[in-house]
Amino acid sequence: MNTESDSKLKPLPVAELQGVTKSYGEVTALEGVDLALRPGQVTALLGPNGAGKTTAVKLMLGLLRADRGTARLFGGDPVTASARTRVGAMMQISGVPQTLRVGEHIDLFSSYYPSPLPMADTLAQAGLEKLRNRPYGKLSGGEQQRLLFALAICGDPPLLFLDEPTVGLDVESRRAFWEQVRRLVGAGRTVLLTTHYLEEADALADRVVVLSEGRIVADGTPMQIKSRAAAQRIRCRSALDPEVVSAWPEVRRVRRDQAGLEILTNEPEAVVRRLLHRDPDLAGLEVKGAGLEEAFLNLTGGADRHDQADRRDLQGAA
Ligand code: ATP
Repeated sequence: MNTESDSKLKPLPVAELQGVTKSYGEVTALEGVDLALRPGQVTALLGPNGAGKTTAVKLMLGLLRADRGTARLFGGDPVTASARTRVGAMMQISGVPQTLRVGEHIDLFSSYYPSPLPMADTLAQAGLEKLRNRPYGKLSGGEQQRLLFALAICGDPPLLFLDEPTVGLDVESRRAFWEQVRRLVGAGRTVLLTTHYLEEADALADRVVVLSEGRIVADGTPMQIKSRAAAQRIRCRSALDPEVVSAWPEVRRVRRDQAGLEILTNEPEAVVRRLLHRDPDLAGLEVKGAGLEEAFLNLTGGADRHDQADRRDLQGAA
C-alpha cells in the first residue's frame, strides 16, 4: 500500500488492482492481489497455467468485476470510455471476422480511438505492409498474431496489455516483436505482458510479477527474482541414475539430456561433494547461477510438478 509521501515520489499507477479477490464459483482465481503498473515500464506477469494471469488482466480492463477490492485504470473505473480509449489489448481471442481484410480490421479498430495512428504506421509497426488486402482467414498463424498486435497499437494508446503475444511465433518473429515492444516503451508506453516464455520476460521486462494459485509470490526486476530464488544449476557427464540423484535432500530437480545430467539445487557444494564421491568417472562439471526458469519453478513450487511438455513451454524458444 502506498503512503502519501510515496505517491509524491512515484508517478501514479496507470492501472491498479488493490486487495482484489475474484472467484468463479468454487475456484478462487485471485486472492488479495495488489498490483500497480507504473508508467513507462514493461511488467511481465508470469505464472503456471491457471495462476490467475488472464483474470488479473481482465479485471484491469474492466471485462470482469472483482468480488472484493478495486480495479482502476488511469485512476478511475476501467469501464469508462475515457479509460478504455487509452488502452490497447492483444488478448487470446477467437471470432475475428475471417473475411475482413487486414486494412479493414485496422480501420474498424482505429475508429474506436480519438487519435489513431495513420494506417501506414500501424501496418509498418506490425510488419503487415504487404498484407493489407489479405482477409484475416487467409493469414498464417504468425501473421494473425501480428494483426492482433496491430489492433492493440492502432489507437496509439499509452497503455498496452499483451496476453501471451508471441505464442506460436518462430524465434525470428519473436525477436522482431520484442524490438517493437522496446520501441513502444522507448516512446513512453506502458506494457503489461503475460507470457509463458521466461526468456521473453527476461529480455523485455523491467519488472516481473510471479503469480501462483491466485497470489503474488514474487515481484521485482528479473535480476532480483533470479537472486531471490538463489538456485544454482550443476551440469556434468555422469553415469549416475537421475532417480538416485533426485533422492538427495539438497536436490530440487534433475534431468538428463544428451549433454549429461542437469541438477538444480540451493546447496551446490553438498551436491558436488556427493557427485564426486559417488562417481569417480564424473567429467565436465560446471556450476552456474540459475536462470529465470529455475527461479520461477522455485517460487511457484513447480519444480516437481512440471512434466516435459510444461517445461518446454516455460523454456520458450531456445
Ligand atoms: P493460463 O496460463 O492457463 O492462461 P491464467 O494464469 O491466465 O492461466 P486464469 O485464466 O486467470 O489463469 O484462471 C485462473 C483460474 O480460474 C483457473 O483455475 C481457471 O480454471 C479458473 N477460471 C478462469 N476463468 C473461468 C471461468 N470463466 N469459469 C470458471 N473458472 C474459470
